[in-house]
Amino acid sequence: MQSKSDAQWLEVRVFVVPEIEEAVCNFLFELGSAGCQQFEYAVSGFFPAAVGAEEIQSKLLNYYSELKALGLCRIQPKIEIRPVENLDWEAIWKRHFKPIYIFDKLVIKPSWTPLPPTAAAIIEIEPKQAFGTGNHATTHLALEFLAEAVRRGDVMLDVGAGTGILAIAAVKLGAGRAVAVDIDPLAIEAAQENCHKNFVASQIELLLGSTAAVPGNQRFDIIAANLNRREITALVCEFRRLLKPTGRLFATGILAEEAPRLRKIFIETGFSIQKEVVKDEWMGMILRKL
Ligand code: SAH
Repeated sequence: MQSKSDAQWLEVRVFVVPEIEEAVCNFLFELGSAGCQQFEYAVSGFFPAAVGAEEIQSKLLNYYSELKALGLCRIQPKIEIRPVENLDWEAIWKRHFKPIYIFDKLVIKPSWTPLPPTAAAIIEIEPKQAFGTGNHATTHLALEFLAEAVRRGDVMLDVGAGTGILAIAAVKLGAGRAVAVDIDPLAIEAAQENCHKNFVASQIELLLGSTAAVPGNQRFDIIAANLNRREITALVCEFRRLLKPTGRLFATGILAEEAPRLRKIFIETGFSIQKEVVKDEWMGMILRKL
């Protein structure tokens, strides 16, 4: 029998009426759930066992009060939390992770869908607990930038690798090699698995840490940073240090409303803005060193 201490995950099951199912699922993602599984009259989120069950429960109860105040939900919330050891990722991700196409160059697909008939490079991603399936607008923007920009033999740096999707894409698009860093050990683990799955492990160096972990005096043709405004701001000088004189930085985790603040920071740090693209409420920028 599985004891609580052996469990790697917590399943948080919330009993819902159909009208609020999608909203509760989104809220579970916002709380850090690695995925969401929908049932009849219930949705489950999955959290690393190290997170506090009480905290999740109290945030969910607050959320229910908000839904009630808005008249969207009249039932009493019912939440069950239980430890689980092995997760069925396919079941958890099935509704949320569909194959995506980046122009005619790349297809990113979950491991459980069949191979599409295409001449494009195919990337198979096992999402697990790391961010980066390509379905999120910010990852999608970064993948489009890569599909347009990567030249044969480029050296790429992926800051905040998550599943490793951007480094893998760069190599599949012709980059000679990539370095990928992430401060989250679970992301590095997932990225490692994905690099092997896609036969690019020998071209991608995965490192736990941030830009300071990049060894030696390496400089890069492309740096992809799908990070939020705060993280990008903290690393902006590092990006400049690590770019080759002709290199390009792709910054894509920016909320469109935050763009003016970031533009100013980039310009003050010695970057010029080459391109800006808006997708949903997100913005991606391509920058060069001045
Ligand atoms: N590159 C993937 C994942 C982006 S999510 C994609 O485009 O989909 C952002 C990732 O950055 C997370 O895995 C997080 O752990 C990592 N991260 C956050 N701050 C970081 C920092 N300062 N240095 C390196 N990685 C960081």
